Parts: sequence; C-alpha cells; structure tokens
Amino acid sequence: MNQITVISPDTAEKADVASNTRKVFIKTYGCQMNVYDSNRMGDALASEGYVTTEEMGEADLILLNTCHIREKAADKVYSALGRLRDMKRTRAEHGRELMIGVTGCVAQAEGEEILRRAPAVDVVVGPQTYHRLPQALARARQGERVVETDYAVEDKFEHLPKVDKAKARSRGVTSFLTVQEGCDKFCTFCVVPYTRGSEVSRPVSQIIDEAMRLVDSGVREITLLGQNVNAWRGESPKGGEWGLGELLYRLAEIPGLARLRYTTSHPRDMDDCLIEAHRDLRALMPYLHLPVQAGSDRILKAMNRRHTGAEYLRLIERIRNARADIAMSGDFIVGFPGETDQDFEDTLKIVEDVKYASAYSFKYSTRPGTPGAELGSQVDEAVKTERLERLQALLLRQQQEFAEGCVGKTIDLLLEKPGRMPGQLIGRSPWLQSVNVDAKESQIGDIIQVRIIGTGPNSLFAERAGA
Ligand code: SAM
Ligand code: SF4
Repeated sequence: MNQITVISPDTAEKADVASNTRKVFIKTYGCQMNVYDSNRMGDALASEGYVTTEEMGEADLILLNTCHIREKAADKVYSALGRLRDMKRTRAEHGRELMIGVTGCVAQAEGEEILRRAPAVDVVVGPQTYHRLPQALARARQGERVVETDYAVEDKFEHLPKVDKAKARSRGVTSFLTVQEGCDKFCTFCVVPYTRGSEVSRPVSQIIDEAMRLVDSGVREITLLGQNVNAWRGESPKGGEWGLGELLYRLAEIPGLARLRYTTSHPRDMDDCLIEAHRDLRALMPYLHLPVQAGSDRILKAMNRRHTGAEYLRLIERIRNARADIAMSGDFIVGFPGETDQDFEDTLKIVEDVKYASAYSFKYSTRPGTPGAELGSQVDEAVKTERLERLQALLLRQQQEFAEGCVGKTIDLLLEKPGRMPGQLIGRSPWLQSVNVDAKESQIGDIIQVRIIGTGPNSLFAERAGA
C-alpha cells in the first residue's frame, strides 16, 4: 500500500493547474471488493471529467476507500487523514483546492464522526451510495460537508456508468466483478452485516453484460466477488432460481473468457451445483477460498459459523472428490473470546487435516457493535500473538509444501504483466500462484504451457514447456 506523505509546497506548485482536467487519487484499503469499488468510483467520476492519477501530489480530489474489518484498518484511515489535513492546508496557502473524501466501510460505520474528528474531510460516502459521489462533491463545492451513508433504495449498479472498455483494458487481463454484496450470516466477530448491509445479489443480465464488456476489452480471467459470494441467487433467464454454480456454467459459455474464479465463500453455501461446476468447467480454476476461522466446535458455535469442524472437513472431501487438484485457501482468527489452548490446538489440527495451499490469519480484533465485543473472557494480547505465530508457521510450511509439489509439473499460465527482470513476465498458475517466466510483453493475455522449475518465497519459476 502506498504511504500517504505530506506534499511540500514545491510539489504542490509543480502539480500545476495549467490543465482544466481534474484529477482524482483513490487509495484503496482492505479487500478485493474495495478494489472493484475504487475502479467503479473512478468510472463514475470520469463522467464528471475526472481522470484518475497514481500521483497523490497531482490530485485535486483524494478519496480514501476504507476498510473497517479490524481495528487497525480504521486507525490507519484516521492517521492518513491527519497527514492529508496538512497537505490541504499547504495547498490552500498556494491558492489550490484539494478535496478529501472518505468512502467504504469506515465511512459507513463512522459517518458524521469522521467530519467531527477530521475537519479536512469534505465528503463521507458509504459503499452502497458511491454512485451519488458526483452529486456529493458538487454539494461540497458549494461549502456543504456531506455525509451519504443511507442505504440506497435504488440499485447502485443501475446508476453507475457501464464499465469503461478503455479503462478496463488499461487495468490488465484479469478483473474483479462484484456479483453480491452484504451478508446475513452475522458471525459474532464481524462488522460486514452492519457496514455492507444485508445480502443483495446483482441480476444475471447485469452480470453477463458486465462480463462481456470486460472480455471485449481484453480481460481473460474474471473473479466474481461477494462478501459471501456463494450466497448469490438470481433469476434464471428461463424462470426459476439460479445459484452461483448455475451462473458459473453460464459465464463459462462467454467466448474468450478463459478463466473464472470466485471469492469469498461460506461453507454453508457450497451447494451441489457449485461443487459440480468445479468438476465440469474447464474455465473454473481449481482454487477455493473457503474460510473456516477456527477448528474448535465450541468456538465455531460462539462465532455463529453454523457448522462444525467435521462438517467442514466432509465438505472439503466432497469438493476434492469432484476436483482432485483443487487448492484450498482459508481465513483464520486466533484469540476469539474464550479460546482456550485446547481450542487453539483444534485449529492447528484442522489445518493439518486440510493442508492449505494458502491462507490468511488474523488476531481477533474487537469490533464495537458486534456480539463478540460484549463477550467476557477476551484473550490476552500476548497469547494471541503467540498463537498467531504458531499458526502462521504451520500455514507457511503448508504453502511451501504445496509450491514444492508443483515443481516438475507442466501447467497453463496466464501471462499478466511484466516481471522484475527484463524479458520476464509474471503469470498466474491455475492455483493463483505468481509464476515468473521468460516471455515477450506482446504475449500478455496469452495462456501458455510452462514447466515449473523452482520456488521462491512468494512465487514460482518456470520455463516454456518443451524448452
Ligand atoms: N465472508 C467471509 C467468511 O465468511 O469467511 C469473510 C469475509 S471477512 C471480510 C474477511 C476475513 O476477515 C474473515 O474471514 C475473518 O477471518 C477476518 N475477520 C473478520 N472480522 C474479524 C475480526 N473482528 N477480527 C479479526 N479478523 C476478522
Ligand atoms: Fe462476516 Fe463472512 Fe461471517 Fe458474513 S459470513 S458475517 S462476511 S465473516
């Protein structure tokens, strides 16, 4: 993530006002859904004459698209806003405007409080209302400080401009596509049901239309996104209801769309059709992010996950029976209130049983307003730290073992972008690993066959198959 730095008067002068084009810098925190939202905000502002810039010093508008999932994520936003206040003051001294907006889940959760704590902020816009960003900015330019966090009654996606093909092309050959937002599961540690609201699925036609635009602009791989993506439901074009499995079968028919992925899924929503899609669809990559969070049934119950450890393991067995080479990924929380040493051992045990190809793990972070925050028996910070270290050591070992197991295999590689060395490109394996290979820049977007010849700390090395 870019560090936000105070821009000196010199730099501010250099970002001259010769051009009338307004520039927006969007800083994205958190998950892939925020990455998608930032792109869509960029599209919405483009129709108001803004161009996006990667240089904060050039920007007339800075948006912080925020994450509220853990306490540290929100703290980062407030310290960034402190630095932006200084930048805005420096700009004002040089007669140049700088507008500042906070969007995303911190905006939704904190609303007016942001205006109170951060006087430099002009607009606060929640994740369900960012299609109203241009109007909010227009009002702010009249001197109003705007908070737009009501859940929109209208469909945000209907009001956003369609994905801009030229922009999509410039963003690369892989793309996110949000199909579902919000969550009705109410895990007791999680703020998502409060910040993103209840589950809403985008209609089939909207999704297919957006996927086709992306493919037309050169995208080869689409990752469907949702806080709980496999809870997606839609009306089939022939009547009746579709789940995510049926949607994937339909998307796989789009000519030119070579690869499909989806994230993040809840174990309770892995239905038969979705598992069959993993068996049948060549385009559906053999990688599944399926968080379990903890291994102890007592803790899973306290978390309101609505499944046991044994049920999760049985589910994975069914998925592996459908697609033997599937790489499993997950999320874990250590130190949920009341977690004992034995509960934590159960988490290590479930990790040993599953054998993850990759995973994310976190210390439990108390989120005000969630039921977890009301529980007694909060776990000591030092205990959380020790448990996290043990868990991460195990997960890292499994990730390395998975990577080493790939050495010698010939695989399909989607070439995505230039590598660090001249003449090298970085691509993605079917299992979402970064792979370095010698290839020409003109091949970006191609899927080539390579043989894996080695592993690095975060990537693999390959040579052209047959070389
Ligand atoms: N919907 C997904 C699921 O059911 O697993 C998770 C989405 S959540 C945005 C991403 C991850 O953040 C969670 O899987 C969880 O591991 C982590 N997380 C959420 N709330 C947390 C908290 N209060 N403390 C620590 N980690 C948390
Ligand atoms: Fe949060 Fe995921 Fe649980 Fe929903 S299912 S409450 S998004 S952790």
